[in-house]
Amino acid sequence: MNNLRQIVGRSTLPINEQILNLILFVSALTSFAYSIGTLIQETYNWVLTFRIVSTFGFTIMYYYARFKNAFKYLLIPTTIGVYLVLSLYWFIIGGLSGTSPILFLAASIFFVVIYPESKRFLVISFTILNVLLLIYLESAYPSLESLYTSPFDIRIDLISIFILSSFSLSWLFNLFSSKYNNERLKVVKQNQNLSEAYKARSQFIANMSHEIRTPMNGVIGMTNLLNDTSLDKEQQEYVGAIEASGERLLLIINEILDFSKLEAGHTKLKKAPFSLRTCIEEVLEINAPKSFGKGVELIYWIEPNTPEMLEGDADKLRQILINLVGNAVKFTHQGEIVVSVKTITQNQNTYDFLFSVKDTGIGIPKAQMPRMFDSFTQVDETNTRKYGGTGLGLAISKSLTELMGGHIWIESTVNVGTTFYFTIKAKTLSDSSDKNYTEQLPTLENKWALIVDDNATNRMILEHQLKKWAINTVVVDSPTKALDVLDQHSFDLGILDYQMPEMDGLELGYQIKEKKPNIPLVMLSSGGGLEFIKYGDIFTTFILKPVKQYHLFNGIYNALSSERSTTSTKKNSTKSEIPIANNTEAVAILIVEDDVINQQLILRILKKIGYLPELAKNGLEALKFVEAQYFDIILMDVQMPEMDGLEATRQIRKKSQLNQISYAPTIIAMTANAMPEDRQKCLDAGMDHYISKPINIKKLKQLLTS
Ligand code: ADP
Repeated sequence: MNNLRQIVGRSTLPINEQILNLILFVSALTSFAYSIGTLIQETYNWVLTFRIVSTFGFTIMYYYARFKNAFKYLLIPTTIGVYLVLSLYWFIIGGLSGTSPILFLAASIFFVVIYPESKRFLVISFTILNVLLLIYLESAYPSLESLYTSPFDIRIDLISIFILSSFSLSWLFNLFSSKYNNERLKVVKQNQNLSEAYKARSQFIANMSHEIRTPMNGVIGMTNLLNDTSLDKEQQEYVGAIEASGERLLLIINEILDFSKLEAGHTKLKKAPFSLRTCIEEVLEINAPKSFGKGVELIYWIEPNTPEMLEGDADKLRQILINLVGNAVKFTHQGEIVVSVKTITQNQNTYDFLFSVKDTGIGIPKAQMPRMFDSFTQVDETNTRKYGGTGLGLAISKSLTELMGGHIWIESTVNVGTTFYFTIKAKTLSDSSDKNYTEQLPTLENKWALIVDDNATNRMILEHQLKKWAINTVVVDSPTKALDVLDQHSFDLGILDYQMPEMDGLELGYQIKEKKPNIPLVMLSSGGGLEFIKYGDIFTTFILKPVKQYHLFNGIYNALSSERSTTSTKKNSTKSEIPIANNTEAVAILIVEDDVINQQLILRILKKIGYLPELAKNGLEALKFVEAQYFDIILMDVQMPEMDGLEATRQIRKKSQLNQISYAPTIIAMTANAMPEDRQKCLDAGMDHYISKPINIKKLKQLLTS
């Protein structure tokens, strides 16, 4: 193969030059072989002369092509030479019925390859015309047949075709294999570079995040200390705002850090005993305020016979669940979110657990699903992002499930809901059941409970749970049915949901008590524990959703023992009103900002300077304000849900131009995007000034008074 490479020239030569070299070499060699053959036979002297001349001609051309880089001068002479030789051979080596047509075909293929694309048509036409002419001559002048060759020539002919084709094939093979090898080496090298770059990038992000985290921790720590000093109400609010913003920033940085650690392969799993139920309950508890605040049910379901005491990394499992449940809450506006778990396979005491987080939210379009686990990917990537987030949660969850020997996938229908499934492998510990609740079972056994809940999943779960404690149940989905059933059956206990469409749990409680004053009632509610104390004479127990198993058990146990208690109550946070100072400067300012903390911050700052601003939560609201009243200045956030600041500005400017509003306010952008191109975008949209976040009071003051 190396010899061949030497013949055709350096493999670095362009492919067409290599082919020309090959054609010339093979032509010289074949002509030489024919010359020898003719010499031995001593026939056809002019043929011999022609063969010797062509041998010399091809050899000289080969020399120039191979060693003098004369490709461009030799292309046309070689073509003419080869076609001339082949035309004469036509009559020497058997005409149309001999091997000439094959040689013409082979030559034309080679020439088509080496000629530039624009000349290929000419080469093909020339070949066809040449062959047609030869066929015509052959039939019109049969005397030319006298030139037909001897058997010896035919042998030489076959040998030369054999040489020609083996050379060509081995050359082609060599060419493609070296090309393939080069490509392969290139790809291997690229892969190497890429994975090194990938690692370096992850390492860089990890270092960066760490470097940012350290001072951030300092900020939050100092804020905590500051909180413990004597502060007036205003100062406390400032410190609270710093703390909340700092914690949010830390959360984002932590997500980036987690992700880069996972990518760089630095994440290790811990091995410690933990309770599966507690892990899920904790996750639900974290998400409960948001979920119930939107009126969305948050429920979990552990299939019967699922081992509950596991050995593994509870923090990592919690992290996956927090991501998935957090997303479900974020993208669901009505209905329910159900977290379920069951085992699917078992190998001794190691199980594959299948988790699902099912919501009735906005869903994910089919086309987007395959990309959903890529980092920094979100369905809605427009500037007016409604839901915020980094687009890292699912990428982190995917890496974590894989680290725990499982995988993750989605099923979703737009406007119907999404289910995220994931599996993990975990060892179970021998003490795996919820024994704590079995000792008191005799108290509960064979009692009858009436369950009233409009949510089917809740009913199913309560029914299963009570059956596990040997309590008989009658389950209904509405208060009317509950009151009917009460007339037909006697009950030891009633478990009522608070939020129901036709009549709430409180009203139902009163009506039940009117019919059966002695029946103890348990109320399940998603909030308001303390305020329910005043209904203590109706309800024995209040249980806060998401219902924890031991709360339910204790609640039922207490109710049946007729003890009155309030389980799991939560303090309602008291919202502080912001006192607004008198407007001393009579400048009308509108703040357009979606973030609550930032709203407070900017309101505070402006109040301090002496202004009395109005507040709009997004671009759409801002437009309504602008139409309704006059503003001198609008402080406009850029990234906001519903309508972003750039679009809002464009629309306000348009309104002024079309005289839909009678004034043109000064619009000042407030944005966290600090790049010059962001500034330009704001100015292009029609804003007058630009102030970057965090807002510097001095600068703002200067801007407002300038
Ligand atoms: P983030 O929520 O921080 O943007 P994630 O990686 O957790 O990042 O989610 C990426 C994107 O996947 C979300 O922005 C959203 O578009 C989509 N998504 C995730 N969970 C759901 C869900 N339950 N319903 C609808 N869309 C979802």
